[in-house]
Amino acid sequence: MSFFDRFRNKNKGAAVKASAAKTSAAVKKEVKKDSKQAAPAACSSKTLDSVAAAQLQPADLGELLPGAPPNGKINLAIYWAAACGGCDVSLLDVNERILTIGDMANIVMWPIAADGKEHDIAEMEDGSITVSIISGAVRNSENEHMVKLLRKKSAIVVCYGACACFGGSPSLANLIPGGKDELLDYVYRKTPTTANFQEDYHKGKPVIPQTEFKAPEGKLTLPVLYDTVKTLDQVIDVDYYVPGCPPLQESISHLLKAVADFAYNGVPLPPKGATVGVVTKTLCDMCPRRKEYRRITKIVEPHEIDVDPDLCLMDQGILCLGPATVGGCNARCTRAGQPCRGCYGPTVAVQEQGASALTAIASLFPVLDDDATMGEDSIIDIMSTIKDPLGYFYAYTMGKSLIKRSVTEKGGK
Ligand code: SF4
Ligand code: SF4
Ligand code: SF4
Repeated sequence: MSFFDRFRNKNKGAAVKASAAKTSAAVKKEVKKDSKQAAPAACSSKTLDSVAAAQLQPADLGELLPGAPPNGKINLAIYWAAACGGCDVSLLDVNERILTIGDMANIVMWPIAADGKEHDIAEMEDGSITVSIISGAVRNSENEHMVKLLRKKSAIVVCYGACACFGGSPSLANLIPGGKDELLDYVYRKTPTTANFQEDYHKGKPVIPQTEFKAPEGKLTLPVLYDTVKTLDQVIDVDYYVPGCPPLQESISHLLKAVADFAYNGVPLPPKGATVGVVTKTLCDMCPRRKEYRRITKIVEPHEIDVDPDLCLMDQGILCLGPATVGGCNARCTRAGQPCRGCYGPTVAVQEQGASALTAIASLFPVLDDDATMGEDSIIDIMSTIKDPLGYFYAYTMGKSLIKRSVTEKGGK
């Protein structure tokens, strides 16, 4: 039996129940206080000074934008593809400067805030939009059409937010073996509310949205849902990335500064492909929690223990993706006692954020030759207590993962 078979079987069974039944006192007892283990490679050692130095400072934006740029206003488009709207709202985090963005730019499209139709964009000259900021993943035919249109019309495309950069939570739907048909069937027929609705109003003939409908007034169409959710750069060429769910104020300030410096002073933009508003180190380097590299002998969730406010969450048995996540948010979640879920994505050196996090966690199991107090079965038991491993390690990055989708094994298991 392979590791994964054993992992899966364990996950279905007693280990999960046993975990849920533990009291918080018992859980705390099982998180061993053993600081002998060497620091895993993913986390370098840190001091308070190094943590302070690692913080991402907001860009100095100076005074409010000083009227129109010397060569006239730039054209700015802001578009959301498969997005929740949070990224659009986060743009307001430039505070009072949002009032003077209109001095710098003609906003030619921003569906959440201003009018601006597809045909308006289609009629513009190619390359005449200076900057398009696009959030959201590409999950349907309308998303694809619009991002390709904006790419054609734009000199610069910014891939904004975790969904656009890595697929984000929409790309977790790539794990549904039956693709869009299974997704629609579940959403419109199987959830309790829709099942009741179909039973009450369409008994025996459930209604699922169609891509075309002939109404008395004419043909109505809906975008075609895709089986696979894609990241923006899997569909169009992208110039810059700003990660985060949503990007935080510090990161946004660096994007605005780059655009404003370019528009007003002709300052060259960062090199194509750059990620704006992050540091080169991992989140652990900007997290103020003390790291003791204790052994993991039990995995817990924050609500199951009294979280020590100063100690690394991993040292307390709480899985944290900080070692596998690029620094940019100044450790917002871990400062608040919640583990990092990785919304800023991996560092440039890492392709697979989930695998990188697993590697960091694996280095904390006491399996080293000189202190092997735990065998493979124990590790499987511990890891099996993670209720949704793929959802945990790939909450934001499934679209970029080497794991493309889940498949159904022969026999339907
Ligand atoms: S990255 Fe987060 S805030 Fe932005 S659209 Fe996706 S889910 Fe919403
Ligand atoms: S709490 Fe998370 S981010 Fe902070 S030091 Fe520990 S592993 Fe790193
Ligand atoms: S701590 Fe992690 S999940 Fe929280 S905002 Fe920062 S990168 Fe995102």
